[in-house]
Amino acid sequence: MKYHDAMFIDGSWRPAAGRETIDVLNPADEQIIGRVPAGSEQDVDDAVRAARAALPGWAATPPAERAARLTALRDQLAARKEEIARTITAELGAPLGFSTAVQAGAPIVVAGSYAELAASYSFEEKIGNSTVLLEPVGVVGAITPWNYPLHQIVAKVAPALAAGCTVVLKPAEDTPLTAQLFAECVAAAEVPAGVFNLVTGLGPVAGQALAAHEGVDLVSFTGSTAVGKRIGALAGAAVKPVALELGGKSANVILPGADLAEAVGAGVANVMANTGQTCSAWTRMLVHADQYEEAVALAAEAVDRYTPGDPTDAESRMGPLVSAKQRDRVRGYIERGISEGARLVAGGPDAPEGREKGYYVRPTVFADVTPDMTIAQEEIFGPVISVLRYRDEEEAVRIANGTVYGLAGAVWAADRDEAVAFARKLETGQVDINGGRFNLLAPFGGYKQSGVGRELGAHGLGEYLQTKSLQF
Ligand code: NAP
Ligand code: MG
Repeated sequence: MKYHDAMFIDGSWRPAAGRETIDVLNPADEQIIGRVPAGSEQDVDDAVRAARAALPGWAATPPAERAARLTALRDQLAARKEEIARTITAELGAPLGFSTAVQAGAPIVVAGSYAELAASYSFEEKIGNSTVLLEPVGVVGAITPWNYPLHQIVAKVAPALAAGCTVVLKPAEDTPLTAQLFAECVAAAEVPAGVFNLVTGLGPVAGQALAAHEGVDLVSFTGSTAVGKRIGALAGAAVKPVALELGGKSANVILPGADLAEAVGAGVANVMANTGQTCSAWTRMLVHADQYEEAVALAAEAVDRYTPGDPTDAESRMGPLVSAKQRDRVRGYIERGISEGARLVAGGPDAPEGREKGYYVRPTVFADVTPDMTIAQEEIFGPVISVLRYRDEEEAVRIANGTVYGLAGAVWAADRDEAVAFARKLETGQVDINGGRFNLLAPFGGYKQSGVGRELGAHGLGEYLQTKSLQF
């Protein structure tokens, strides 16, 4: 793999201040595929200074010109789609088909949507005798995870740039090569120097330094709830706005009148995609007692079709997990499910047959899961589904809302009105009705401890703006 032994700061690739490095591993074969600098406080400080210096010019750039740079960025991402997909497969382990269609494909659409929004958005509003100016928040510190490495970068950087903000990005240590490719695309799109800066590094060092930096006006973080709470506390102490996209434990609620086979099949596919490493995955399947055993059998059968395999093989529908740490975490949860008395109907904690090398786990289904079990409460972030039983609608609502999270979910019913009535009772940021498709323009974000703020579309742009009211 191609990589830079450098940071992208103030429009050019330059050596890091220190000598620490991060080895990038291919999770399918555990081989080192790259080495990038592990940024220090000094690198973060240099990058924030560059972003501050670039802010007045970029904020004053007409939205139509910002839109033109974002269109060029979209075109770069589109031109390099295959290379991006191969890189994501190499450092994350997502199957190549999924990397191409979703991991590399979605960011092209999102970048394009912000090119259009930058051009069409009204950065001024009239209220009575006031004119309200919508101005950029300033310098954005963006901290992103590894599970959708390019999407999560673009979902922050594109709206920030559309709004007139400048950015310093600290991507996940497991997927820095994708972030470097993104920086190359930004440079090729002729975004002015300092408007976007990249510091690779470790969370507790570079991430912490960015989150705590006085020169950062807003921190936008996606990742675990544990780290999100720390970042929220830092921002609160400094009176800074913060956007947090955190974990989930979303419910797939199958009401008695639904097409059971369709709902179970879609539910399994939703969890198995990206090897279960999706914050919005419907990891709890809620089924009426009368249909429970039938649903469990359908789920076990559906999971059988996901055989872990080499992610570069076009036939593979499931790759390895991103890292040894993540694999051990997921296996630990599978063991916990067994020890707490859930019934294992597919998969299990051992390595899949013939996959002793690489960070593979077996796609797993648990039945007889009760709401108090650890596997029904905590985010596992792996290909593990818990099937829970409910007796009436009221209990289904209670179980669905019975975690600290509220990111996504699904409702399946005989008709749309019944599903919508149920969806209104859910404490969650998104609900897919009878198989509704993901919408890259709809606001995405969490209720409760799944986060603060929204990404994507016009709502996502609004996060990077602050208001100034002029009275006449
Ligand atoms: P994480 O530690 O929260 O990582 C997210 C980002 O925050 C990474 O860039 C990380 O850097 C950085 N970071 C870590 N500690 C930090 C700190 N003290 N200050 C500032 N930034 C910091 O998540 P993870 O360890 O990769 O995954 C752990 C669990 O989080 C997963 O099993 C899953 O449950 C959850 N998760 C959720 C999402 C989501 O989309 N909601 C995404 C990923 C993970 P490093 O890469 O160096 O750690
Ligand atoms: Mg981490």
